[in-house]
Amino acid sequence: MESTTRARRVAHLCHAKRCDVRVPPKMLMCRKHWYMVPPDLRAAVWATYRPGQEIDKDPSAEYLAAALDAIDAVAERERQREGQREDH
Ligand SMILES: [Zn+2]
Repeated sequence: MESTTRARRVAHLCHAKRCDVRVPPKMLMCRKHWYMVPPDLRAAVWATYRPGQEIDKDPSAEYLAAALDAIDAVAERERQREGQREDH
């Protein structure tokens, strides 16, 4: 169990649905989910990413749209392989 000091700041979690893996703020998702995003959407997310946006909390509308598309794409894929259980 994690106690006190460390990890006390607001944790940034993977944006995929039902995933609570902690990821660096500039990453949208954990590795596993990120690689479930179709390559063109991944490129769109990076193309619209602005360094520092995770610090000033002011991402562009384009980035948010791309991010949402990516999240949806992952959710879609997960639905398709519903049968598999979560590895946790
Ligand atoms: Zn994840």
